[in-house]
Amino acid sequence: MSSPEKTVVMVTGGSGLVGKAIQEVIEAEEGTLNERWVYLSSGDGDLTCPIQTSAIFDKYMPTHVIHLAAQVGGLFANMKYKVQFWRNNVIMNDNIFQECHKRNIKKLVSCLSTCIFPDKTTFPIDETMIHDGAPHFSNEGYAYAKRMVDVQNRMYRDQYGMKFTSVIPTNIFGKHDNFHLEDSHVIPGLIHRGYLCKQKGEPFQIWGTGKPLRQFIFSKDLARLMVWTLRSYDEADPIILSVGEEDEVSIADVAHTVAKALGFEGEIQFDATKADGQHKKTANNAKLRRYLPDFKFTPFEDAMKETVEWFTENYATPG
Ligand code: GDP
Repeated sequence: MSSPEKTVVMVTGGSGLVGKAIQEVIEAEEGTLNERWVYLSSGDGDLTCPIQTSAIFDKYMPTHVIHLAAQVGGLFANMKYKVQFWRNNVIMNDNIFQECHKRNIKKLVSCLSTCIFPDKTTFPIDETMIHDGAPHFSNEGYAYAKRMVDVQNRMYRDQYGMKFTSVIPTNIFGKHDNFHLEDSHVIPGLIHRGYLCKQKGEPFQIWGTGKPLRQFIFSKDLARLMVWTLRSYDEADPIILSVGEEDEVSIADVAHTVAKALGFEGEIQFDATKADGQHKKTANNAKLRRYLPDFKFTPFEDAMKETVEWFTENYATPG
């Protein structure tokens, strides 16, 4: 029988890209700790339903929560389903906050994204600038829903003294991502398309001009940093979890890195009739560096290789 004082960390969205990486990190690197980690998937219940959310908390009795569950997607999915991105995220987040408060959860860490920042801003962006102007039109449903998480964190701290906070990763990639050809983010989308182009001997088509710039964080690095956040970061204000500005890459660089990891040696073409989205979203990781000056990020090429290997192995044995 477990003691009520035992630490139980419940991870919502635990079967996704980041949840799986947290699981891998906890099992490989932290296995000896006296903690129970629970990874939720959609089979555990619907977090947009308050009754089901409450039942999930009853079942697992968490003391800490990492809230990853969200409706997420790349540029093209965000443009198509604005209303769903807004409603599903707002309702789900409100249910989670309500339960965490009611049950006096010791720490709640939610996940934001750099794409919620103002469209018209100065670069680099930092944690103080989230609410300084409207987000890009392409993802306003998602962006406004996620901005409210930051507002909720401060309100619950001010009114109830809760330790609720959020992290802001830059573009995440890694194993267990959504590799859908149309509705995924750029790296998994390109890995899938590049893989098929290599098999068919066709040119590798990249959407847009290839000029936009992004910072990418490997899911396993993000997992390590989120575990640190849960244990050691006590501000309500968010923290950007990202590689530095010097590690920003263009979409063309990404395409070449994907091609190299796949062993694709054919032609790479850019389809400028497709949308580029935001030109850049350069984020400043100085706050993270103040807390963790020595954290080592996995080199981009190594992380890409690990991701492509995982995709290739799992593509051969679907399901
Ligand atoms: P964003 O950072 O929110 O814009 O997310 P994405 O991961 O969707 O990155 C979009 C950038 O990659 C844009 O500049 C797209 O034009 C470019 N891109 C190139 N090929 C693809 C692709 O196959 N899928 C996606 N999602 N984006 C692509």
